[in-house]
Amino acid sequence: MPEVLKAPLVVEFPFTRSLGPVQSAFLTGLRERVVLGVRTGDGRTLVPPVEYDPVTAEEIRDLVEVASTGTVTTWAWNHAPRRDQPLDTPFAWVLVRLDGADTALLHALDAPGPDAVHTGMRVRIRWAEERTGAITDIACFEPFAGGQAERTGHTGEFEDPVTGIVAPARLDYTYSPGRAQTAYINALADQRNVGERCPSCRKVYVPPRGACPTCGLATSEQVEVGPHGTVTTFCIVNIKAKNLDIEVPYVYAHIALDGAGLALHGRIGGIPYDQVRMGLRVEPVWTEDARYPDHYRPTGEPDADYDTYRELL
Ligand SMILES: [Zn+2]
Repeated sequence: MPEVLKAPLVVEFPFTRSLGPVQSAFLTGLRERVVLGVRTGDGRTLVPPVEYDPVTAEEIRDLVEVASTGTVTTWAWNHAPRRDQPLDTPFAWVLVRLDGADTALLHALDAPGPDAVHTGMRVRIRWAEERTGAITDIACFEPFAGGQAERTGHTGEFEDPVTGIVAPARLDYTYSPGRAQTAYINALADQRNVGERCPSCRKVYVPPRGACPTCGLATSEQVEVGPHGTVTTFCIVNIKAKNLDIEVPYVYAHIALDGAGLALHGRIGGIPYDQVRMGLRVEPVWTEDARYPDHYRPTGEPDADYDTYRELL
């Protein structure tokens, strides 16, 4: 059996969000080295603050300053920090209840090892040198033997508040497509579409997933399908995607390759977008170094009869 493929896969989406009055005050406060919580109707102080009372769901706006010192309520040791974590040496993830707050804030604690960390220990904020109005304005927490830090009595009013942030989300995977899709991808390198047939219902899955989800049986019989196929349904794309060098509008379609038991996705080219239709017969267009068709184009055959693909929509 050929080696199963694997490759790095990064899913990354910088997310721009507006803050609203409470989060704006909280993050602007961090920029100014002030920690603000919010007071609920029953007199508790929540840090980090929220906009609605978690018990009554009432809107809350009563900002109150808490201290930059606090107590660890629970923790976990992180022995192998990853990219963009607060510290690049091993550290503790801690929940810290700041002095004056009733809830705890998640952050990192810089400590020499797990033996130096315990629930109930006193800590204080180590501020980042450059602060922009983000949770990372707290560089981390550090052990602290003293008492409560002083508060300035800040009301949460700022000259130049932060109103939005970009929150980068990034997931690093090593992705393995498994046995069935490895065979599919390897066949694509030879410009062939190879699916797998279910031994029970006889449906041919392209791309194959290794099992028939209807029958719950493993698939292993390989079946070459296509190269021609039929557009079963389609949409016209009018929004240009970042980093994608395709002029809009263009058509993205479900294409049932001849012999396949379900449709796959592909872009339709070689025909004006407003002439693409259900039943259009197409064939793949391969580019030199790609491992999959760049797009599909009309073959010139008569359109397929609806009954031939009605089960593949
Ligand atoms: Zn089946």
